[in-house]
Amino acid sequence: RVSVVLFTSDLRVHDHPPLRAALAGADAVVPLFVRDRAVTAAGFDPPNRAAFLADCLADLDAALRERGGRLVVRGGDLVEEVCRVAAEADAAEVHLSAAHSRFAVRREERLRTALEADGRRLTVHDAVTVAVPPGEVTPASSDHFAVFTPYHRRWAKAPLRAAAAAPRRVPVPDRVRGERLPRRADIDGLSPALPPGGEREARRRVTAYWRSGLDDYERTHDDLAGDATSRLSAHLHFGTLSPVELVHRARRRGGPGADAFVRQLAWRDFHRQVLAARPAAAHADYRTRHDHWRPERAARADIEAWREGRTGYPVVDAAMRQLRHEGWMHNRARLLTASFLTKTLYVDWRVGAAHFLHWLVDGDISNNQLNWQWTAGTGTDSRPNRVLNPVAQGRRYDPDGAYVRRWVPELADVDGRRVHEPWKLPGPERAALDYPDPVVGLSEGLARFRRARGRP
Ligand code: FAD
Repeated sequence: RVSVVLFTSDLRVHDHPPLRAALAGADAVVPLFVRDRAVTAAGFDPPNRAAFLADCLADLDAALRERGGRLVVRGGDLVEEVCRVAAEADAAEVHLSAAHSRFAVRREERLRTALEADGRRLTVHDAVTVAVPPGEVTPASSDHFAVFTPYHRRWAKAPLRAAAAAPRRVPVPDRVRGERLPRRADIDGLSPALPPGGEREARRRVTAYWRSGLDDYERTHDDLAGDATSRLSAHLHFGTLSPVELVHRARRRGGPGADAFVRQLAWRDFHRQVLAARPAAAHADYRTRHDHWRPERAARADIEAWREGRTGYPVVDAAMRQLRHEGWMHNRARLLTASFLTKTLYVDWRVGAAHFLHWLVDGDISNNQLNWQWTAGTGTDSRPNRVLNPVAQGRRYDPDGAYVRRWVPELADVDGRRVHEPWKLPGPERAALDYPDPVVGLSEGLARFRRARGRP
């Protein structure tokens, strides 16, 4: 008996319920990854994520080979390819992790129908790409939580399945062939400092972070220059780490740092349960509608300045340059750059979300779109009209300006906190800097925001 395990956003061998279930019920399995042409057609595999994915597949293949197997990679229409592989392997069953976006849910439905028409079964496993699956905790009056704090209270008490070890052996039948694995080296347009992907790297990073970082997380996570967060987001996105295992490990560690870290993992599940219940929130305003953003044409120069990191606001520019260079940005930097685009420049959140999705190696429909909506005031923030002032944010989270100086070399010689307001430097000093004036004054931006939101 043979089963197929279809890998999607769960590119690991540790704590992988579909793989374990398949091995328990069959003599051999076909570990399959399909490069779905619909994902490419939708532009959802930009260079940074395509390269990280290539690393993940290579590493998964290596882990399976160590266990006597290998990874089979195919390209094309995912449903057709899975049916073809199942037929070639004469598999009775296909195992898959539950997904939560509209695209993935529809794809899963199509796959189930096609397999059943061939007399095969699809088994979908929960709690593989999230710790607490969407719908598992709900308020009395709705199918999902729209506010994080009550969600978190329930999430923290929800039962968590035990994490499973990696299988020792993964026998794979010879008769199923795959194509050559994609390679990072073949992909152009990458961020120069893009991190490596793969489960081994993910587990190494967890061990290192547990050794030095986690215990201080609560105190240091907002320090831009300190760069003290876990940087596990891309691994969670591609599933080289199990969120269930991570929550267990952090809870075992305990203490304020681990508690604060687990709370961030709850944010991840929170956004997924919002998206699962309201798939349209990936592109439409979730709670509060705002239709009167500045037209893109009128704001084009401001949008370009924001994308390129030359708005004249040092901490915004530093963050936007970090994004391009590393394919990653600190959470505090994401918050303040998103607030600047939507609430100071008054540009539609979708414009910013698309730019982030192009560059972010952890770019994720639920986390990205719903965090953008949170910041723009259309989503789940209970204070939708809060505006983050980029100068105040800079002074608070980059008090001596080290983050700005790291990413904006034009300001490298401006000392201390003055680096956050270069326009206030004495005339000759200011004139010597090759750095732009602010694209808009903060009071002008605020006035525009208040007018648009109908607030005094
Ligand atoms: P840590 O601080 O170490 O947190 C641990 C993990 O918790 C993260 O890896 C992540 O999986 C999760 N997490 C942390 N903060 C959040 C959050 N606010 N919402 C959901 N999950 C969270 N995260 C993504 O994974 N993909 C995105 O596309 C994404 N886009 C964002 C866009 C905006 C405008 C904002 C404000 C935030 C976005 N985030 C996104 C959330 C957050 O910024 C990143 O998860 C975090 O910066 C990743 O760094 P880290 O792994 O070091 O996080």
